[in-house]
Amino acid sequence: MIDVLVVGGGPVGLATAIRCAQHGLSVTVAEPRTAPVDKACGEGVLPAAVRRLAELGVVPDGHPLHGIRYLDARHRADAPFRRGHGLGVRRTVLHAALAERAAALWITVIPQRVSGFDRHAGHVAASGIEARYLVAADGLHSTIRRALERESPAGNERGKSARSGAAGNGAPRNPAPPRYGLRRHYHVPPWTDMVEVYWSASAEAYVTPVSPDTVGVALLFAKPPRTAAPDPDGTGPRDEAGTDGDYDARLAAFPALLDRLGGAPWASAVRGAGPLRHDVARRVHGRVLLVGDASGYLDALTGEGIGVGLAQADALARCLAADRAQEYERAWRRVSGPAWRFTAGVLWSRNQPLLGPRIVPAAQRLPWLMSALVNYAAQALAGQRRSRAVITAGRPGAPSVNVGRCDRSPPRREAHRGSSRTVFREGDIRCGPGDPSRTGHLILARRRR
Ligand SMILES: Cc1cc2nc3c(=O)[nH]c(=O)nc-3n(C[C@H](O)[C@H](O)[C@H](O)COP(=O)(O)OP(=O)(O)OC[C@H]3O[C@@H](n4cnc5c(N)ncnc54)[C@H](O)[C@@H]3O)c2cc1C
Repeated sequence: MIDVLVVGGGPVGLATAIRCAQHGLSVTVAEPRTAPVDKACGEGVLPAAVRRLAELGVVPDGHPLHGIRYLDARHRADAPFRRGHGLGVRRTVLHAALAERAAALWITVIPQRVSGFDRHAGHVAASGIEARYLVAADGLHSTIRRALERESPAGNERGKSARSGAAGNGAPRNPAPPRYGLRRHYHVPPWTDMVEVYWSASAEAYVTPVSPDTVGVALLFAKPPRTAAPDPDGTGPRDEAGTDGDYDARLAAFPALLDRLGGAPWASAVRGAGPLRHDVARRVHGRVLLVGDASGYLDALTGEGIGVGLAQADALARCLAADRAQEYERAWRRVSGPAWRFTAGVLWSRNQPLLGPRIVPAAQRLPWLMSALVNYAAQALAGQRRSRAVITAGRPGAPSVNVGRCDRSPPRREAHRGSSRTVFREGDIRCGPGDPSRTGHLILARRRR
């Protein structure tokens, strides 16, 4: 029997598996799609999420991002990131980097779609694998979540929570029509190192540079739901969001962006996702737990989905390693609640007939406010822990010297005499009164929580 079976090998599933392995748990991932897995996504990874990836040992190739720019027909507002940089990274590249890291940790990935599970005393069985815990990281249209909803004696918890407005996240219910996303890539050199968000009355277009000759353009919009399309491989009703024709028609609402693209050739096919919003009442069902989009999702317009998912993965792995699965629900709310409330607030403003069209003009007039909000999303919403590491330096046996504080997440942990220690390198440390040159290579951190 293994410790953890992760269902779904998207970014959050792989991150959960990596974190579990780093905690010494045995873990297997079930992912039916052939690597590297692609998905409709804006592909902007915010600075805190870049740091979280680095903590996992994952440094994907991408295009550095230095801020977010909002534009409408007549206004423009730039908000540079104050700390660190983000990354525009193709989903296939991100997936390949995570998969490579998982392979380096000897994590097995089985090419299977999991359609259900059986509970036993002390373990869960699925796809012929017995595990102490089953983690569902199978995305927006999670099969495991639907199975849990069917087995719940109270009936459909998702529907119940959505009707009550609780959403399991403390956020009010949004009565607006469901939102969807479509994306395509273009062969064109990026014209900026910012994510550009073009704003129209009914949609937003997110332009993310992902390589020296490619940009991705993701469209987010509201529309009445269509009957769910067939779901042959369990990865969700992908064409429900729209077709190539729908994409072109919606892109036409952004003439300035069309000018920028200048008829550049396509670099990928259109992919869609949605409806985006999924309210989930709870994430812990005994030994079955939900993480990532499967654990509840609101909208992509604030662009922190991957970062929040990585924070959830970290929290979940800690709970499983401590054999305290029930504590994950609280941990999930702690790392996901701020992002949910922030996104709900922006979405609400966006949907107000009077307020929505004034957002970009206001951002141009109040750059300090825009900058504060963007940097809140870039840092805090991805579950970035404020570091309280006190840095001490010294050789074994000698008294250690307090040299300062680390104001970014520890970049690396390594094995040390049967346990692990955090290793900082030059440049990681904001120094206090001590002299950084005294830190040498043997710098140990005592984390205060
Ligand atoms: C249009 C759009 C734009 C976005 N833009 C951004 C952005 O710019 N920045 C950002 O941070 N986030 C963005 N997001 C959000 C981000 O894409 C998601 O939050 C993220 O992909 C969640 O990862 P995940 O691993 O939970 O789910 P997914 O990426 O959906 O992965 C789920 C995996 O589970 C597998 N699976 C499904 N069913 C089964 C099954 N039954 N058995 C086994 N495996 C299964 C699938 O094959 C898939 O690989 C965007 C989302 C959308 C829709």
